[in-house]
Amino acid sequence: LPKTYEGSQPSVWVEYIQLALDHKPLNLGQGFPDYPPPKYVTDALIEVASNRNLHQYTRGFGHPRLVQALAKLYSQLIGRTINPQKEILTTLGAYEALYAAITGHVDAGDEVIIIEPFFDCYEPMVRYARGVPRFIALKPKLTEGKRLSSGDFVLDKAELEGLFNKKTKAIILNTPNNPLGKVFTLEELTFIADLCKKHNVLCISDEVYEWLVYKPYQHIRIATLPGMWERTITIGSAGKTFSVTGWKLGWAYGPANLMFNLQMIHQNSVYTGNTPIQEATAIAFEKELTRLDSSECYFNSISTELEPKREFMGKFLQETGFKPIIPEGGYFMMADWTPLKSQVDLDSETDKYADYRFTKWMTKKVGLQGIPPSAFYGEEHKKLGENFVRYCFIKEDKNLQAAADILQKWK
Ligand code: PMP
Ligand code: GLN
Repeated sequence: LPKTYEGSQPSVWVEYIQLALDHKPLNLGQGFPDYPPPKYVTDALIEVASNRNLHQYTRGFGHPRLVQALAKLYSQLIGRTINPQKEILTTLGAYEALYAAITGHVDAGDEVIIIEPFFDCYEPMVRYARGVPRFIALKPKLTEGKRLSSGDFVLDKAELEGLFNKKTKAIILNTPNNPLGKVFTLEELTFIADLCKKHNVLCISDEVYEWLVYKPYQHIRIATLPGMWERTITIGSAGKTFSVTGWKLGWAYGPANLMFNLQMIHQNSVYTGNTPIQEATAIAFEKELTRLDSSECYFNSISTELEPKREFMGKFLQETGFKPIIPEGGYFMMADWTPLKSQVDLDSETDKYADYRFTKWMTKKVGLQGIPPSAFYGEEHKKLGENFVRYCFIKEDKNLQAAADILQKWK
């Protein structure tokens, strides 16, 4: 590899998807629903597929019908008129939006603050831009006896403040967070926003789980805080919004001067996204735009649907000896597996970190796959993830029951 890319290693996804193919466990690893998306969404794709005019290239920065729908939705949510041509870019998944946001702004030597645990691609993307990641971990507050919530994990304010300096270019925020499920509060976001404004720092806000928030928590878009629109790029994903992860369609929105930089990276690497998927997603958005306040709106019903699954998983993990951290948002649950340590043959695996050994052993010997959270920490803090496993709960009830049965039988 050229020097900039030296040291790149296959990610946890590459490794664990292969592991699942090889051992065929019950897969609660990679995050995707194991049941179909809403019917009107797949019907939209059928309708598009049979339209002879929707199978050629579309506009590079975003299919017109889709950027219109996105502008309409986010103008309402952000409380300002968003220009569909200049202030939105559609991308190949949220991955490409992240890549364009990072490489479109980070110069050699620029520092980028990353909050741990973080979605793992942030770090290599910053390094590919020759930026310097500066990590800060969310740490648990002491909570006696009660079940841990993702809300118990907080930033040390002085530590965060100490990371901001003249070299700081950007902070990457992810709310609701993957893998922890933390939904940042207004107070936390205000603190971050004030630091961004004080030090003239860009905020890259990964909000792919914006609709997956459990009551009574609320998703707050940092771009809506005073003085933040000007310095925020917000990222979303059709995969998460409509439960179609295989569609790999994402987007970014923000002020035109910042979005121009993303558009250039996109233009000169990918140029344009695929037409039928963008058209079908536009149709899906148009439908939801007519019923945003209704409980039938998928943006509202999805978390209502997922809440019992979250409860069920929290319960069976607790009952089988794990210590789960109940997420406020997203569809993952982290749990401390170390109370079960004596039942695991950790020495049969050779990985450096115990969560990798635990999850590999579980996949092979017990038939249940989870993801090792140390993958979501920078090298210096990987120990903080080692005692945990991440399980995904956007699965059919019968498969969650099967996971519970597997663990009951094993423990
Ligand atoms: N950000 C986060 C926090 C994610 O969990 C994911 C997972 N897919 C992505 C970005 C990437 O989304 P996409 O599949 O749309 O590329
Ligand atoms: N976002 C999903 C997860 O965290 C998928 C990640 C991926 O496929 N790279 O599991």
